[in-house]
Amino acid sequence: MKVAKFGGSSLASGKQLEKVYQIVLSDPERKVIVVSAPGKRHGDDIKVTDLLITMGEKSLKGESVQQELEAVVERYAQIAKELTLNEEIIDKIRKNLIDLINGDKSEPTLYIEALKAAGEDNNAKLVAAFFNARGKEAHYVNPKEAGLFVTNEPGNAQVLPESYENLYRLRDRSGILIVPGFFGYSKDGSVLTFSRSGSDITGSILANGVKADLYENFTDVDAVYSVNPSIVKQPKEISELTYREMRELSYAGFSVFHDEALIPAFRAGIPVNVKNTNNPSAPGTRIVNNRENKNGPVIGIASDDGFCSIYISKYMMNREIGFGRKLLQILEDYGMSYEHIPSGIDDMTVILREHQLNEETEAEVLQRIKDELHADEVTIERHLALIMVVGEGMRHNVGTTSRASKALAQEGINIDMINQGSSEVSMMFGVKAHDEKRAVQALYNEFFAKVLA
Ligand code: ASP
Repeated sequence: MKVAKFGGSSLASGKQLEKVYQIVLSDPERKVIVVSAPGKRHGDDIKVTDLLITMGEKSLKGESVQQELEAVVERYAQIAKELTLNEEIIDKIRKNLIDLINGDKSEPTLYIEALKAAGEDNNAKLVAAFFNARGKEAHYVNPKEAGLFVTNEPGNAQVLPESYENLYRLRDRSGILIVPGFFGYSKDGSVLTFSRSGSDITGSILANGVKADLYENFTDVDAVYSVNPSIVKQPKEISELTYREMRELSYAGFSVFHDEALIPAFRAGIPVNVKNTNNPSAPGTRIVNNRENKNGPVIGIASDDGFCSIYISKYMMNREIGFGRKLLQILEDYGMSYEHIPSGIDDMTVILREHQLNEETEAEVLQRIKDELHADEVTIERHLALIMVVGEGMRHNVGTTSRASKALAQEGINIDMINQGSSEVSMMFGVKAHDEKRAVQALYNEFFAKVLA
């Protein structure tokens, strides 16, 4: 049995839904289908989820939401029209949205959550109606009815372990099951969404729950690329990578597959296949537990900006018990999470996402570190980019770091920081944000272009 998830661009129009229908029908193993809300049809289009968020926010302020309501209904209506479905389904969608708009506003966050989830929820109903209209037995399955329970964390819900047992029962249901992605229910019955792009997470939870043989994630690219195609033209496609490699790449900006979505599939040892709805015969990228290393040491290069580093030095730091704890306690007091801490004998650098610090908190944090830790020097550097060079093949491979640093040196790029975890599955370079693209290109040339030449 396979679980197949289709992303927003795969469901943005009637034409796209026809492709989805053909894909589902072409393999009888595809039984559980997870759907996103209709996404963008072209570059400047607005995703249904974003329209719903705007609608919720305006409604809470008491403003008219007529325009957004019409825009959302129109998205579904156009799809229905293209597929020559009857009006009934659109009337149901409109009614559902109006009920949600007029719903309980006493807990504003939950009010928005319910509206946000309506994009996926109504799309699942529409897709089921479409399959039925074509004579195929398909059922809309609500996550509450399926037993998909989550924590009470709006916009960041986490699956509750008991869900998996409940979901196993879906195996016994007849026909194709169409499940809306992106949300579950708290034990007290409220709708709670996962983080953005969270339909990938639903798909992975379902794959684990029904003990699928494969989790297929249909999107709009042929494969996961070894580097961001907006930085390097026509980069090499990755045919197979491990969960750990994917995790490292998605941490630093690979958005093809949600990093949280790896966990449930990984725990159940279910391979993930990222495929293209617009080119389903392409093999796509497989994410697996172990792979044979047929590439060089590096499988992909990811980068992300928006980081800062706090540098702290103190003579004899290495002998001082509790220094690191006291430093991290200060950050914890401000609710800040850190990303990496490269350290030396007498110094430490804490790397954070810089949006966590505004001018005021920055001054306070630096002062507290100076005063409470009696540091000799405390400085902050903003506008950094992190570049992750990732590959299981780096383990026990001599000379990868030297090749990478040489490639950067030849481009005249200064490396602010290097960090290599003991897992040896990734290497991290901190550079100035304005050097990010050049650095990625230089590393790509070193590890991929040369191999191909
Ligand atoms: N529609 C949701 C979003 O835009 C979830 C998803 O598409 O996976 O974030």
